Amino acid sequence: MTGSRAEGSLFRVTTAPEPFDEGAWAEFLSKELGSRVSVRFGRARSSVLRVVRAPRGARGGRGELVVHMSEFFGRAPLEVRTSVARWLSAGKRARRSVRELDRWIDDELAREGPRAPDPQSLVTRGRTVDLAPLLAEVVAAEFRTEFAHAAPPAITFGRVNGRRARRTLRLGSYDPRAHLVRIHPVLDQDFVPRWFVRYIVFHELLHAAMPVERGAHGRRIFHGPRFRAREAAYADYERALEWERDHIEELLRRPTARGRASSRTHRPVVGALRGVQGWLFPR
Ligand SMILES: [Zn+2]
Repeated sequence: MTGSRAEGSLFRVTTAPEPFDEGAWAEFLSKELGSRVSVRFGRARSSVLRVVRAPRGARGGRGELVVHMSEFFGRAPLEVRTSVARWLSAGKRARRSVRELDRWIDDELAREGPRAPDPQSLVTRGRTVDLAPLLAEVVAAEFRTEFAHAAPPAITFGRVNGRRARRTLRLGSYDPRAHLVRIHPVLDQDFVPRWFVRYIVFHELLHAAMPVERGAHGRRIFHGPRFRAREAAYADYERALEWERDHIEELLRRPTARGRASSRTHRPVVGALRGVQGWLFPR
């Protein structure tokens, strides 16, 4: 058992791994960690690899670990499996394993390519605003050159991934993998002016149009200096920030349109790729 905590030099490169299913993963990780682990494959790219502890068992002991992983982990070679085990037992301290895992995940996601949203799942027509013509309008007015040869993203109403912090509401997001802009259904209300929704659409399209800026250590900066400059040049920018300040409480108070067509029919097409999204209110 302890011998399996091999150092890098002992890694065997397995070229064509056999499919390693949920059961095999569970068995492997349980053995490596010395405690019961269960594994579930999923398709969401939002959580490529996530671990939770199940509620206490019947006898009150610590609940077992439940690891959710994208189904492409079924083709993970041995060294990747080992890295997962190390990450589970040491967390971020297992720096090298985390780095290797990151790299492998990036490669796998790139291999899968963009997952186009299912047009059937897109909800563009809200009660008060229709996102499709709005998107076309913003593209024509603000992004002539950027989307001259490349298609602009698709757009839909939909709950934006991520938690709702107390004074923060994420009103839009851009998902680069799906090439999809999501607009929060709370914006589909009478008191929200169309020009404000237009600003949100503009902001998310800007994420789609601009390459991600990089900071120290290659860290991604979603609202870098060039992004900020371009955003500040948007005609309604000041007015939109002001409107947001004045109405954020009201937006937060509203039940998030549960039961309305736009949210009822919305099923997240793909999740965000591990934080690769623009946050609208990061301050
Ligand atoms: Zn943003």
